[in-house]
Amino acid sequence: MKQQDIFKIYNDCIISTYIKMPLVFVKGKGSYLWDIHNRRYLDFFPGWGVGNLGHCHPKIMSAVRDQVSKLIFVPNNYYHIPQARLAEELSRLSGFSAKIFFCNSGAEANEAAIKLARKFGKGRFEIITFLNSFHGRTLAALAATGQDKYKDGFQPLPKGFLSVPFNDLEAVRRATTDRTVAIMIELIQGEGGINVADSEFISGLRRFCDERRLLLIIDEVQTGIGRTGKFLAYQHYGIIPDVVTLAKSLGGGLPIGAMLVRRELANVLGQGSHASTFGGGCVVCKAALAVLRTIQRDKLLVNAKNLGEYLLAQLNSLRDKYQIIDDIRGKGLMIGIELKAKAREVVEECVKRGLLINCTHERVLRVMPALNVNKKQVDQAIAILDEVLGLFI
Ligand SMILES: *Cc1c(COP(=O)(O)O)cnc(C)c1O
Repeated sequence: MKQQDIFKIYNDCIISTYIKMPLVFVKGKGSYLWDIHNRRYLDFFPGWGVGNLGHCHPKIMSAVRDQVSKLIFVPNNYYHIPQARLAEELSRLSGFSAKIFFCNSGAEANEAAIKLARKFGKGRFEIITFLNSFHGRTLAALAATGQDKYKDGFQPLPKGFLSVPFNDLEAVRRATTDRTVAIMIELIQGEGGINVADSEFISGLRRFCDERRLLLIIDEVQTGIGRTGKFLAYQHYGIIPDVVTLAKSLGGGLPIGAMLVRRELANVLGQGSHASTFGGGCVVCKAALAVLRTIQRDKLLVNAKNLGEYLLAQLNSLRDKYQIIDDIRGKGLMIGIELKAKAREVVEECVKRGLLINCTHERVLRVMPALNVNKKQVDQAIAILDEVLGLFI
């Protein structure tokens, strides 16, 4: 197939809900992707947060191959081994012996959390979220999202959500009523421009939730699975959440989501109260298990921390060189570079030079390489960014 034919079919047959770049990819390995012309790209935003192990990791490939040849799917009215193993491992890695509900995406994991909060509330139903947050595109996840641009045209949305300024405990206090049941938050806002939650804010929020009997729901769909240098981002903050949601890179490219819940809350959603047909199928669980084991075996949390620090240092030296850089922030390998101008053109110039990055929130370049990225690849990305930023003086 030719590139032009593919564009034509997309144009004719696919609803264009996505803003696309004119690139057709056919092959991937680690931090590299190849397009249809066999041109190689260094991918510093693999899978929109899905590729924490990069592309086509051999351990994921062999786990999936093995499972597909044995048993592809078992519904949730029976038991199977991959779901048991994955749940046990996630529960251990959570650090609070979480109990788990499996689904297929981030929005679904957040829907489960919202439903759990409503049942827990017994009449209390309001959930406080944050401005510039992103929690997904289903109606309730959208209602929870603190950015109007995603909501236009979809009203009325489910009731009971309100968003307050990020890192502002006083605003949370003011917004809390006797109907409030939960606070839902990303510890680093991903789609909102890589905004990092303050330590004191999060410990204050935990105390406040305890005082007022509110659930603290942490959306780790983007920050989880080692992205920030800890397995889960709340582990930087020394708190235990009530509910955690995961998806994106959990399945190493296969669709799986999960809600992790404190043991005391595990009976809130009783038998028959919530379900997902595909949730926790054999193949996706086997892939996710391979992801978790590889992160541990290859010490990728250490790599994410070290390479993240190295990348940040290199970016900071670019800041000294280029006026256009306003701010650089992030944790581990989740880094945002805020520009004083629109970031989209910078992204396009990087693509021309074989580097894939992302632009979020208009002016923020988002860099989230695979956790197994190496120093040479970071240097390569920095050299391209250096050249590109030089065009915008
Ligand atoms: C991507 C994302 C979601 C939505 O995940 P989907 O799998 O696209 O439904 C929710 N929350 C956060 C923080 C995300 O980054």
